[in-house]
Amino acid sequence: MPFIQFIHKAKNELEEGGRQSAMIADENEPTKPCPNCRRQVALSELWANNNTCGCGHHFRMNARQRMKFITDEGSFNEMWQEIVAKDILKFPGYVKKLESANNACDEKEAVICGTAKIGGEECALFIMEPYFMMGSMGCAVGEKITRLFEYATENRLPVVGYTVSGGARMQEGILSLMQMAKTSGAVKRHSEAGLFYLTILTDPTTGGVMASFAMEGDIILAEPGATAGFAGARVIEQTTRKKLPQDFQKAEFLLDKGFADAIVPRFKQKETVAYLLKMHNGGSTDGNSEETL
Ligand SMILES: [Zn+2]
Repeated sequence: MPFIQFIHKAKNELEEGGRQSAMIADENEPTKPCPNCRRQVALSELWANNNTCGCGHHFRMNARQRMKFITDEGSFNEMWQEIVAKDILKFPGYVKKLESANNACDEKEAVICGTAKIGGEECALFIMEPYFMMGSMGCAVGEKITRLFEYATENRLPVVGYTVSGGARMQEGILSLMQMAKTSGAVKRHSEAGLFYLTILTDPTTGGVMASFAMEGDIILAEPGATAGFAGARVIEQTTRKKLPQDFQKAEFLLDKGFADAIVPRFKQKETVAYLLKMHNGGSTDGNSEETL
C-alpha cells in the first residue's frame, strides 16, 4: 500500500525539506534573511530552490512562480482573467487598495485559474496570490473558483488548488462571506460527479477560505511550517483565556490532529501531485512510487 506509507512517512518531510545544500553567497549578491536559521540567503539560491532555504524554511511564493514550478512547461491555459473586483459597496479606499495590489504583484485578482498538465496529468488548477491583498476572497475570487469547479465538473477534470489567504475581503462585506457558500456548492457538485479535488495549504490559509474550499479537498496537503486556521491564535487565546500550544495552527499540528493528510515540501510537490492525480484518474502508478514519494 504505497499511498498509506506515503502519508505516514510525510511527517518527517519537514527535515527532509532542507536537503538542498546551501550555496556560498557572493558577497556582492543581494540576500534575504531566513527567519528560521537566521542565515543571509542569496537570492540566486532561493530562486534555484523554489524559494526555500537550505534549512527547510519555505518563503512565500507568488502565484505565477508556483504555476511555473508545478505545471508542465507551456501547459497552463489561463481562464477568466477578465473577472476582477468591483467596489460595489463604495468602501472607502478600496479602489486605491486594488490599484496598489495590482502594482505590487502585476495580478488583477487574488487567484489565477485555468487548466494545466502536471506530470502529464490534465487538471483544473487554481493558485491564490499572497501579494494581492493577502489572497483575500471577494466576489471575483469566489466567482473564478466557482467557475473553475463548474468547468471541471462539465469536463470531468480533477481540481488542484493552492490556497493562501487572509480570509474574506472585508471591503466587500457580506458579499465576500457569501463566496464561502457559493464556492462550497460548486465543490460539492464536483465531488458528487465523482471527481477528485486536491488542496495544498500554504502560509497562511485563514478565515473564510480555510472555512470553505481550502478544507473541502478529498486530500489536503500542506507546506512545511504553513499556518492554517480560521480565527487567529491571539483572538482564540483572548476569547477562551487559555494558553494555546506553540505549534497551534501550524501544518505539523494540523497533520497531528487529522486536518491535513500530509506535509509535502516544495521540491516534492510536483511528483506528489502528479502521483495523486494519476492514482485518482485510474492510471497505473509505477511500482517504485513508495521510494520516490
Ligand atoms: Zn534558513
